[in-house]
Amino acid sequence: ALAIEGVRKTFGGHEILKGIDLDVPPGGFLILVGPSGCGKSTLLNIIAGLEAPSAGTLRLGGRDITRAPAKDRDIAMVFQSYALYPNMNVTDNIAFALEMRGVPRAARQAAVQRVAEMLQIGHLLQRKPGQLSGGQRQRVAMGRALAREPRLFLFDEPLSNLDAKLRVEMRAEIKLLHQRTRTTTVYVTHDQVEAMTLGDRIAVMKDGAVQQWGTPDDIYDRPATRFVAEFIGSPP
Ligand code: ATP
Ligand code: MG
Repeated sequence: ALAIEGVRKTFGGHEILKGIDLDVPPGGFLILVGPSGCGKSTLLNIIAGLEAPSAGTLRLGGRDITRAPAKDRDIAMVFQSYALYPNMNVTDNIAFALEMRGVPRAARQAAVQRVAEMLQIGHLLQRKPGQLSGGQRQRVAMGRALAREPRLFLFDEPLSNLDAKLRVEMRAEIKLLHQRTRTTTVYVTHDQVEAMTLGDRIAVMKDGAVQQWGTPDDIYDRPATRFVAEFIGSPP
């Protein structure tokens, strides 16, 4: 389980996150939505340990990770820009983080085979990122995250660079992966359809605060504010 308690963040005198409280139960899938600049990526970066909060506490599986270095958090993040290593082939991209953690060669190979099968990228293992399509790169980025068997997955708009058809395919794949691995997930998106179909909870953010938090049905049928209704597209 992930517990976010009273998380605040100030950048240059501006409060970007104004006290965020959210809970994701083990195996839960939380969607974060909200307009550009409302603080979604900042919150993910704080969870991942890439930024420090100005106040508040983060707990993962009961452990206080607020001050733990990113590498000790057991969290994997997938970005919109994939962030693959351009000079490494797909196998090495997937295995690199495992190698850094001292996982032996045979276990690394087994992990690569496991995720390659899950994501249907077995035929791409020798290629470099520059020889892959956008959708294939995104699969590799997910494979790399998955190979670590993290306690928590963070996705920051992973599908926004893909065309509409691929986005629909990858959406189904992410849903299937979650059903198979039951990894606790926080997923940021701009896409209302993704928000309504992928998660079991949605948090709608505005100006650094959570306006409403609930199941997709709750949010759609009973939006708490006019902003939420308009953002989610509820009928008036
Ligand atoms: P988008 O949907 O466009 O990705 P977002 O919700 O992810 O937006 P953030 O990237 O979290 O938004 O940014 C929230 C606010 O914090 C923005 O106003 C941004 O300019 C500001 N901000 C983010 N990072 C920094 C930083 N390192 N220094 C100063 N301000 C920052
Ligand atoms: Mg962002």
